[in-house]
Amino acid sequence: MSRLFRKPRPAHTMTNSLRCLAAAGLLLTAGFACAKEWSQVTNPAPGRPQAIGQTSKGCLAGAVALPADGVGYHVMHLERHRNFGHPHLVDMIESIGRATARDRLGVLHVGDLSQPRGGPTPFGHRSHQTGLDVDVWFAMDSSLLGRADSLRSNLDAPSLLNRTGSGLNQMLWDDKHARVLEFASRVPRVERIFVNPHIKRELCRSTTGDRSWLRKIRPWWGHDDHFHARLSCPPDSPQCESQEPLPAGDGCDSSMDWWFRAPTTTPTPGRKAPHHIEISRMPKECQWVLMD
Ligand SMILES: [Zn+2]
Repeated sequence: MSRLFRKPRPAHTMTNSLRCLAAAGLLLTAGFACAKEWSQVTNPAPGRPQAIGQTSKGCLAGAVALPADGVGYHVMHLERHRNFGHPHLVDMIESIGRATARDRLGVLHVGDLSQPRGGPTPFGHRSHQTGLDVDVWFAMDSSLLGRADSLRSNLDAPSLLNRTGSGLNQMLWDDKHARVLEFASRVPRVERIFVNPHIKRELCRSTTGDRSWLRKIRPWWGHDDHFHARLSCPPDSPQCESQEPLPAGDGCDSSMDWWFRAPTTTPTPGRKAPHHIEISRMPKECQWVLMD
Protein backbone atom coordinates (compact mmCIF):
# COMPACT_ATOMS: atom_id res chain seq x y z
CA MET A 1 0.00 0.00 0.00
CA SER A 2 1.50 3.32 -0.99
CA ARG A 3 1.83 6.43 1.09
CA LEU A 4 -0.83 7.97 -1.10
CA PHE A 5 -3.49 5.57 0.11
CA ARG A 6 -2.57 5.76 3.77
CA LYS A 7 -2.22 9.46 4.24
CA PRO A 8 -4.88 11.23 6.32
CA ARG A 9 -7.40 13.13 4.33
CA PRO A 10 -8.33 16.72 5.12
CA ALA A 11 -11.72 17.22 6.71
CA HIS A 12 -13.22 19.06 3.76
CA THR A 13 -12.95 15.93 1.61
CA MET A 14 -15.06 13.87 3.95
CA THR A 15 -18.31 15.05 2.43
CA ASN A 16 -17.34 13.45 -0.84
CA SER A 17 -15.94 10.44 0.93
CA LEU A 18 -19.01 9.75 2.94
CA ARG A 19 -21.37 10.38 0.08
CA CYS A 20 -19.49 8.05 -2.21
CA LEU A 21 -18.96 5.30 0.32
CA ALA A 22 -22.56 5.49 1.42
CA ALA A 23 -23.62 5.33 -2.19
CA ALA A 24 -21.37 2.36 -2.82
CA GLY A 25 -22.87 0.43 0.04
CA LEU A 26 -26.43 1.55 0.26
CA LEU A 27 -27.87 3.23 -2.75
CA LEU A 28 -28.99 1.80 -6.04
CA THR A 29 -27.76 4.95 -7.71
CA ALA A 30 -24.25 4.51 -6.36
CA GLY A 31 -22.63 4.12 -9.75
CA PHE A 32 -24.22 7.25 -11.07
CA ALA A 33 -23.28 9.32 -8.06
CA CYS A 34 -19.64 8.32 -8.13
CA ALA A 35 -19.17 8.24 -11.89
CA LYS A 36 -20.52 11.76 -12.02
CA GLU A 37 -17.92 12.85 -9.56
CA TRP A 38 -15.03 11.43 -11.57
CA SER A 39 -15.86 13.87 -14.33
CA GLN A 40 -16.37 16.75 -11.91
CA VAL A 41 -12.95 16.58 -10.30
CA THR A 42 -10.71 19.07 -12.05
CA ASN A 43 -7.33 18.38 -10.43
CA PRO A 44 -5.19 15.23 -10.29
CA ALA A 45 -4.90 13.16 -7.13
CA PRO A 46 -1.67 13.93 -5.28
CA GLY A 47 1.19 11.51 -4.98
CA ARG A 48 3.38 9.63 -7.37
CA PRO A 49 1.95 8.57 -10.72
CA GLN A 50 0.08 5.29 -10.64
CA ALA A 51 -2.25 3.66 -13.11
CA ILE A 52 -4.65 1.47 -11.12
CA GLY A 53 -6.85 -1.36 -12.33
CA GLN A 54 -8.04 -2.01 -15.86
CA THR A 55 -8.25 0.54 -18.61
CA SER A 56 -12.05 -0.01 -18.58
CA LYS A 57 -12.37 -0.14 -14.79
CA GLY A 58 -9.70 1.84 -13.05
CA CYS A 59 -8.28 5.20 -12.14
CA LEU A 60 -5.15 7.30 -12.06
CA ALA A 61 -3.16 8.97 -9.29
CA GLY A 62 -0.47 11.60 -9.77
CA ALA A 63 -1.62 12.46 -13.29
CA VAL A 64 0.07 15.16 -15.33
CA ALA A 65 -1.67 17.45 -17.80
CA LEU A 66 -0.72 17.45 -21.44
CA PRO A 67 -0.36 21.18 -22.30
CA ALA A 68 -3.06 22.37 -24.69
CA ASP A 69 -0.48 23.19 -27.37
CA GLY A 70 2.96 21.79 -28.04
CA VAL A 71 5.39 21.09 -30.85
CA GLY A 72 3.42 19.36 -33.58
CA TYR A 73 0.13 19.00 -31.72
CA HIS A 74 -2.97 20.73 -30.33
CA VAL A 75 -5.39 19.28 -27.78
CA MET A 76 -9.04 19.45 -28.86
CA HIS A 77 -12.21 19.67 -26.76
CA LEU A 78 -10.58 21.46 -23.86
CA GLU A 79 -13.96 21.75 -22.16
CA ARG A 80 -13.84 18.04 -21.31
CA HIS A 81 -10.75 18.25 -19.08
CA ARG A 82 -9.58 14.94 -20.47
CA ASN A 83 -6.00 15.96 -21.21
CA PHE A 84 -4.56 14.11 -18.22
CA GLY A 85 -2.46 10.99 -18.23
CA HIS A 86 0.36 9.01 -16.76
CA PRO A 87 3.64 10.87 -17.48
CA HIS A 88 4.61 8.12 -19.94
CA LEU A 89 1.51 8.93 -22.00
CA VAL A 90 2.25 12.64 -22.06
CA ASP A 91 5.85 11.86 -23.10
CA MET A 92 4.61 9.63 -25.90
CA ILE A 93 2.25 12.26 -27.34
CA GLU A 94 4.92 14.95 -27.17
CA SER A 95 7.38 12.63 -28.87
CA ILE A 96 5.10 11.81 -31.84
CA GLY A 97 4.19 15.51 -32.07
CA ARG A 98 7.88 16.37 -32.42
CA ALA A 99 8.38 13.68 -35.07
CA THR A 100 5.34 14.96 -36.99
CA ALA A 101 6.66 18.52 -36.90
CA ARG A 102 10.20 17.44 -37.80
CA ASP A 103 8.99 15.67 -40.93
CA ARG A 104 6.56 18.49 -41.82
CA LEU A 105 3.57 16.16 -41.98
CA GLY A 106 1.07 18.59 -40.50
CA VAL A 107 -0.12 18.86 -36.93
CA LEU A 108 -1.67 16.28 -34.64
CA HIS A 109 -5.08 17.00 -33.14
CA VAL A 110 -5.20 15.17 -29.85
CA GLY A 111 -8.56 13.97 -28.56
CA ASP A 112 -9.22 12.51 -25.15
CA LEU A 113 -6.66 11.13 -22.76
CA SER A 114 -8.14 10.64 -19.26
CA GLN A 115 -9.94 12.76 -16.70
CA PRO A 116 -7.71 14.27 -13.98
CA ARG A 117 -8.16 11.17 -11.83
CA GLY A 118 -9.15 8.81 -14.60
CA GLY A 119 -12.22 6.73 -13.87
CA PRO A 120 -15.34 6.24 -15.99
CA THR A 121 -16.42 9.08 -18.24
CA PRO A 122 -20.07 10.13 -18.48
CA PHE A 123 -19.94 9.82 -22.27
CA GLY A 124 -17.66 8.74 -25.07
CA HIS A 125 -15.40 5.94 -23.86
CA ARG A 126 -15.39 2.64 -22.08
CA SER A 127 -11.63 2.70 -21.58
CA HIS A 128 -9.37 5.75 -21.03
CA GLN A 129 -9.72 5.26 -17.26
CA THR A 130 -6.11 4.75 -16.17
CA GLY A 131 -4.18 7.48 -17.98
CA LEU A 132 -2.67 5.10 -20.53
CA ASP A 133 -4.99 5.72 -23.52
CA VAL A 134 -5.14 8.56 -26.03
CA ASP A 135 -7.13 9.29 -29.17
CA VAL A 136 -5.39 11.16 -31.97
CA TRP A 137 -7.37 12.45 -34.93
CA PHE A 138 -6.34 11.49 -38.45
CA ALA A 139 -7.06 15.08 -39.53
CA MET A 140 -3.67 16.81 -39.67
CA ASP A 141 -4.51 20.02 -41.51
CA SER A 142 -2.83 22.89 -39.71
CA SER A 143 -5.67 25.23 -40.69
CA LEU A 144 -8.21 23.20 -38.72
CA LEU A 145 -7.73 25.18 -35.55
CA GLY A 146 -8.74 28.34 -37.38
CA ARG A 147 -12.31 27.03 -37.47
CA ALA A 148 -12.37 26.08 -33.78
CA ASP A 149 -13.99 28.03 -30.99
CA SER A 150 -12.03 29.04 -27.91
CA LEU A 151 -12.39 25.62 -26.29
CA ARG A 152 -12.04 23.72 -29.59
CA SER A 153 -15.36 22.13 -28.77
CA ASN A 154 -17.19 22.77 -32.04
CA LEU A 155 -15.25 20.44 -34.34
CA ASP A 156 -15.50 16.72 -34.89
CA ALA A 157 -12.81 14.54 -36.41
CA PRO A 158 -13.61 13.71 -40.05
CA SER A 159 -13.73 10.06 -41.13
CA LEU A 160 -11.23 8.59 -43.57
CA LEU A 161 -13.84 6.18 -44.95
CA ASN A 162 -15.87 6.65 -48.09
CA ARG A 163 -19.52 7.58 -47.86
CA THR A 164 -20.81 4.02 -47.63
CA GLY A 165 -18.13 2.88 -45.20
CA SER A 166 -17.05 0.17 -47.62
CA GLY A 167 -13.46 1.36 -47.92
CA LEU A 168 -11.06 4.24 -47.39
CA ASN A 169 -11.70 7.58 -49.03
CA GLN A 170 -8.59 7.69 -51.19
CA MET A 171 -8.86 11.48 -51.41
CA LEU A 172 -8.27 11.65 -47.66
CA TRP A 173 -6.00 8.69 -46.90
CA ASP A 174 -2.37 9.74 -47.18
CA ASP A 175 1.02 8.29 -46.49
CA LYS A 176 1.38 10.80 -43.65
CA HIS A 177 -1.21 8.79 -41.71
CA ALA A 178 0.92 5.67 -42.05
CA ARG A 179 3.98 7.64 -40.97
CA VAL A 180 2.32 8.91 -37.79
CA LEU A 181 1.00 5.44 -36.96
CA GLU A 182 4.52 4.11 -37.39
CA PHE A 183 5.92 6.83 -35.10
CA ALA A 184 3.43 5.84 -32.41
CA SER A 185 3.90 2.10 -32.88
CA ARG A 186 7.66 2.37 -32.55
CA VAL A 187 7.41 4.01 -29.12
CA PRO A 188 8.41 1.06 -26.91
CA ARG A 189 5.84 1.86 -24.21
CA VAL A 190 2.98 1.74 -26.71
CA GLU A 191 1.36 -1.66 -26.40
CA ARG A 192 -1.31 -1.51 -29.09
CA ILE A 193 -3.01 0.95 -31.45
CA PHE A 194 -6.61 0.56 -32.58
CA VAL A 195 -7.60 1.58 -36.10
CA ASN A 196 -10.50 0.80 -38.41
CA PRO A 197 -10.04 -2.53 -40.25
CA HIS A 198 -9.93 -0.70 -43.59
CA ILE A 199 -6.94 1.26 -42.33
CA LYS A 200 -5.18 -1.85 -41.08
CA ARG A 201 -5.76 -3.53 -44.42
CA GLU A 202 -4.34 -0.55 -46.28
CA LEU A 203 -1.24 -0.58 -44.06
CA CYS A 204 -0.82 -4.32 -44.67
CA ARG A 205 -1.02 -3.68 -48.41
CA SER A 206 1.25 -0.66 -48.64
CA THR A 207 3.97 -1.18 -46.04
CA THR A 208 7.31 -2.31 -47.42
CA GLY A 209 10.61 -3.04 -45.72
CA ASP A 210 10.45 -3.51 -41.96
CA ARG A 211 6.86 -4.43 -41.19
CA SER A 212 7.40 -5.27 -37.52
CA TRP A 213 5.57 -2.12 -36.35
CA LEU A 214 2.35 -3.39 -37.91
CA ARG A 215 1.99 -5.92 -35.10
CA LYS A 216 0.77 -3.28 -32.66
CA ILE A 217 -1.77 -1.89 -35.15
CA ARG A 218 -5.00 -3.71 -34.29
CA PRO A 219 -8.28 -3.59 -36.24
CA TRP A 220 -11.28 -2.46 -34.23
CA TRP A 221 -14.77 -1.10 -34.71
CA GLY A 222 -15.04 2.60 -35.48
CA HIS A 223 -11.64 4.31 -35.31
CA ASP A 224 -12.02 5.68 -38.83
CA ASP A 225 -11.55 9.30 -37.72
CA HIS A 226 -8.86 8.77 -35.08
CA PHE A 227 -6.46 6.17 -33.80
CA HIS A 228 -6.37 5.05 -30.20
CA ALA A 229 -2.97 4.31 -28.68
CA ARG A 230 -2.64 2.42 -25.42
CA LEU A 231 0.48 2.08 -23.32
CA SER A 232 1.50 -1.02 -21.43
CA CYS A 233 1.34 -0.95 -17.64
CA PRO A 234 4.17 1.26 -16.33
CA PRO A 235 6.70 -0.28 -13.91
CA ASP A 236 5.68 2.30 -11.27
CA SER A 237 2.11 0.96 -11.23
CA PRO A 238 1.97 -2.48 -9.59
CA GLN A 239 -1.83 -2.35 -9.43
CA CYS A 240 -2.21 -1.73 -13.14
CA GLU A 241 -3.79 -4.79 -14.80
CA SER A 242 -2.16 -5.78 -18.07
CA GLN A 243 -4.07 -6.84 -21.14
CA GLU A 244 -3.58 -10.05 -23.05
CA PRO A 245 -0.29 -9.99 -24.96
CA LEU A 246 -0.53 -9.40 -28.69
CA PRO A 247 -0.40 -12.42 -30.96
CA ALA A 248 2.80 -12.97 -32.91
CA GLY A 249 3.13 -11.64 -36.44
CA ASP A 250 2.09 -8.46 -38.21
CA GLY A 251 -1.64 -9.27 -38.09
CA CYS A 252 -1.92 -9.15 -41.89
CA ASP A 253 -3.13 -12.73 -42.12
CA SER A 254 -6.46 -14.47 -42.53
CA SER A 255 -7.62 -13.09 -39.17
CA MET A 256 -8.33 -9.87 -41.07
CA ASP A 257 -10.98 -11.57 -43.18
CA TRP A 258 -13.38 -11.78 -40.26
CA TRP A 259 -13.63 -8.02 -40.11
CA PHE A 260 -14.91 -7.72 -43.61
CA ARG A 261 -17.81 -10.02 -42.86
CA ALA A 262 -18.88 -7.75 -39.97
CA PRO A 263 -19.91 -4.10 -39.84
CA THR A 264 -16.82 -2.03 -39.18
CA THR A 265 -18.12 1.47 -38.78
CA THR A 266 -20.15 1.17 -35.59
CA PRO A 267 -18.33 2.64 -32.61
CA THR A 268 -18.64 -0.36 -30.31
CA PRO A 269 -19.49 -4.00 -30.74
CA GLY A 270 -22.72 -5.33 -29.34
CA ARG A 271 -23.71 -3.94 -25.99
CA LYS A 272 -23.47 -0.31 -25.08
CA ALA A 273 -20.49 0.82 -23.09
CA PRO A 274 -21.28 1.48 -19.43
CA HIS A 275 -20.62 5.06 -18.49
CA HIS A 276 -20.91 4.58 -14.78
CA ILE A 277 -19.41 1.92 -12.59
CA GLU A 278 -20.30 1.41 -8.98
CA ILE A 279 -17.38 2.50 -6.87
CA SER A 280 -17.66 -0.76 -4.94
CA ARG A 281 -16.85 -2.62 -8.17
CA MET A 282 -13.75 -0.61 -8.86
CA PRO A 283 -10.31 -1.30 -7.34
CA LYS A 284 -10.58 -0.18 -3.71
CA GLU A 285 -7.62 2.20 -4.14
CA CYS A 286 -9.75 4.17 -6.58
CA GLN A 287 -12.03 5.23 -3.72
CA TRP A 288 -9.08 7.05 -2.18
CA VAL A 289 -7.93 8.46 -5.49
CA LEU A 290 -11.36 9.98 -6.02
CA MET A 291 -11.60 11.41 -2.52
CA ASP A 292 -8.04 12.49 -1.75
ZN1 LIG B 1 -10.08 6.00 -27.52
